[in-house]
Amino acid sequence: MAESVPKQAECLAAAGLQSRILLPSSPEYASRIEAYWSKSSQLKPACFIQPTSAAEVADAVKALVAAKQTFAVRSGGCNFWPSNNIDNGVTIDLGQLAWIKYNADDETVSIGPGARWGQVYEYLAQYDRAVAGGREARVGVGGLLLGGGNTLFTGRRGFACDNVIEYEVVLANGSIVKATAGGEHSDLFRALKGGGNNFGIVTSYTMPAIPCASIWGGLVILPPDIMPAAADAFVDFTSNLEKDPDSNLILMIAHLEPKRGSVIAGLYANVAGVEKPPIFNKFLEFPELLSTYKKTTLVECLNATAQGTGYHGVWFASSFANNPAILRRAAELHAELAAEFEDHITDQDFQTQCIFQPLPRAFAQNSVKLGGNMLGLERNQVDGVLWSAHIMVRTAEHEAWAYPRVRAYVEKVRAYAAEQGGLLDWITANYANPSQPVLESYGPENVARIREVANKYDADGVFQTLCPGGFKISKVQG
Ligand SMILES: Cc1cc2nc3c(=O)[nH]c(=O)nc-3n(C[C@H](O)[C@H](O)[C@H](O)COP(=O)(O)OP(=O)(O)OC[C@H]3O[C@@H](n4cnc5c(N)ncnc54)[C@H](O)[C@@H]3O)c2cc1C
Repeated sequence: MAESVPKQAECLAAAGLQSRILLPSSPEYASRIEAYWSKSSQLKPACFIQPTSAAEVADAVKALVAAKQTFAVRSGGCNFWPSNNIDNGVTIDLGQLAWIKYNADDETVSIGPGARWGQVYEYLAQYDRAVAGGREARVGVGGLLLGGGNTLFTGRRGFACDNVIEYEVVLANGSIVKATAGGEHSDLFRALKGGGNNFGIVTSYTMPAIPCASIWGGLVILPPDIMPAAADAFVDFTSNLEKDPDSNLILMIAHLEPKRGSVIAGLYANVAGVEKPPIFNKFLEFPELLSTYKKTTLVECLNATAQGTGYHGVWFASSFANNPAILRRAAELHAELAAEFEDHITDQDFQTQCIFQPLPRAFAQNSVKLGGNMLGLERNQVDGVLWSAHIMVRTAEHEAWAYPRVRAYVEKVRAYAAEQGGLLDWITANYANPSQPVLESYGPENVARIREVANKYDADGVFQTLCPGGFKISKVQG
């Protein structure tokens, strides 16, 4: 017997969207749940609605708002916490809006929010092109661009959000608008660059195409005891990045596989295809347990960095000054945290990652040149480090056990950075824990701007109340 439409979805069926609804009894519903990157996001909505056009997104929003029905918005579904899903509500799944169109005439790429970065790069490879997007193939376009987005191209071209030249947005009243730098909705255009899902649902992004036939890069595993020296090498790399903006580094201390202990892993890259550029000299002198770096393509390089799924996640983010003492302290405290996990999780099936990414002032200067965003990084007076702690465990019980421990770890690192006079404000939405003050970290001016734009485009606060997932401006004090 066909499953009857639950009351939460009646408004959608009445709006003519019945054929787009996935009910819990359908195999497609189960596979959409399974496709969330993190088990922490695998809540059970009353249904998914899968629009196939901006007009259908608009119809769905109008129907849900009229029925005062709570909903969530999901693009790639890669956020580790359920900002992208809702128990017993309706999840608007943008997975069908996954087109990628390269326009050779004006060298732009238009991308649907449901596409994944791996698909984007694979499609653009036939034209020897790329865009400034994510660094893991499965990560979604929609969420990464709304949270800012650190990329392999940030040194040269600013954050992913700085590269968006047009947004198509479905507003809370169901109207569809285009937001550009010089157009009628230039305030919305700017606010979307880091302001998250406070304003509407983005149904299309247009970005400049970047010539990119080949890159140099790959994954490296280094012995754990080189950490003190690796901290110095990282600081040196970050200080020199302005002189070599095509190079890119992610350095992490990680417990990745059961019973293998912690390792140091690096992603080395140069998007101009320069092999072993001098900025990597200090790193290239370290003994390597494994290395895959070579002249390659973006697609191949990212396939080699795929991360394990099927875990519950506890992630936190922070930023601090480019000071090796802070990196070393984060590493020492990570060793203590990993040891605690090894004692508690008897089958050793967990991952801990203490990740350092360069955050030189030059990144923010690029953003300013491109018109500015909401992240507030131009306030930094010193080169910085984007730091995040990602912990992945197999069960909800282990997640509950892990949360206070990871939180305490992050607080200790932040306290040490503050003692050193090196704690920076920015907390990136893309890796942040829901308990962290992400929007506040953008600074009072940007908070005021986000609030003003949210009030203007969503006067009834639909995206504050009916769509609770994400970092919400209404939760920010003052
Ligand atoms: C393995 C891995 C690698 C990563 N690598 C990077 C990286 O290189 N750089 C980086 O900056 N981040 C990275 N991230 C973090 C990533 O940017 C975030 O998890 C991001 O939210 C993922 O985008 P998504 O489309 O999958 O988002 P989802 O999980 O679908 O959504 C995230 C949030 O955005 C909202 N949202 C999504 N799409 C829309 C839309 N179209 N309109 C309105 N609201 C929307 C959702 O409601 C939700 O609140 C990585 C994450 C993982 C798991």
